[in-house]
Amino acid sequence: MPFRVLATDRVSKKGLAPLREDDRFDVVLIKDSSDPEFASGLKTAAGLIVRSATRVDSSLLDGAPDLKVVGRAGVGVDNIDMAAASERGVAVMNAPSGNTISAAELTMALMLAVARRVTVADRSIRQGRWERSSLLGVELRGKTLGVIGEGRIGWEVAQRCRAFGMDVIVYEPYLTAERVDELHPKLVPLDRLIERADVITLHVPLNAETRGLIGEGTLERMKKGAFVLNVSRGGVVDEAALARALNEGRIAGAGLDVYEHEPLSPDSPLLDAPNLVLTPHLGASTKEAQIQVALEVAGKVRTALAQGDLSSAVNASDVANAAGLS
Ligand code: NAD
Repeated sequence: MPFRVLATDRVSKKGLAPLREDDRFDVVLIKDSSDPEFASGLKTAAGLIVRSATRVDSSLLDGAPDLKVVGRAGVGVDNIDMAAASERGVAVMNAPSGNTISAAELTMALMLAVARRVTVADRSIRQGRWERSSLLGVELRGKTLGVIGEGRIGWEVAQRCRAFGMDVIVYEPYLTAERVDELHPKLVPLDRLIERADVITLHVPLNAETRGLIGEGTLERMKKGAFVLNVSRGGVVDEAALARALNEGRIAGAGLDVYEHEPLSPDSPLLDAPNLVLTPHLGASTKEAQIQVALEVAGKVRTALAQGDLSSAVNASDVANAAGLS
């Protein structure tokens, strides 16, 4: 009997090829988890692949007695109750690298839009104005880019900025000795990066250490002409402090894709701040990334079901504990 895998939330069909082209799997695509076929399909499913819309909670898991693995086509697993999955021995796999290039390219789009005031210019021309002198921009060439967190996305952004003729410095406390050698002498302490960089770009996870990393204190020490970009996670930037710094002209601009609360509240002080480009969490929103994340997670689900290899699960150790394996 092939393993039944349900895929919902319009996961890219093309990206499911590793499972669809393997006769050990029976892949059932259901557009939406509210479809009654979804609940009936779950009863015999060994695998489930979702994006962010389906809430994988204990009641869903209770209706899926044979489920071994949940794949999330994307990075964030906020829509999956990890404790409930681990308790039931269900492995959760995500796709952290499929959207790296898309997120890096969106960072470049924000950087250029802020430097050349593209969104302000677009608004002004639509309002019937032909403003040129007030829309004076800056070149990126010769400027210093400060990358905070040089993982997958930070590294790709750094590569692109070098091609723009920027000087790249990095703050990254968790590098292997090998990578430190590679980056030397561009690795700098955080304070130095904050004070030297013309463009500061954030590519860190959100945790206790990074929450509010860009706040009143850091903004105070930045250059007056500096920009801040955040395509990582909301909460890394203190939004009220950023709005104040922009309103008071203490920094020159910013670009944000992610927010502490999404969708962004209509009362957010960010909406009235000048020289700020906002996008609604579009980092992974490209055709290519949607295919890549589905390919990545489908490959992991295939390995998990066909070989019982759960090592790439986000909750691998908890599942092993639940099974009494460690
Ligand atoms: P990654 O794990 O490859 O890189 C993160 C890096 O941050 C690591 O190298 C880690 O060592 C470093 N880091 C951790 N704590 C740090 C700290 N206190 N100071 C400096 N560096 C620190 O992750 P990634 O794939 O490059 O993703 C980066 C961020 O972008 C993540 O938060 C991810 O969720 C987010 N992301 C957002 C979108 C979007 O749609 N906007 C898309 C993809 C990823």
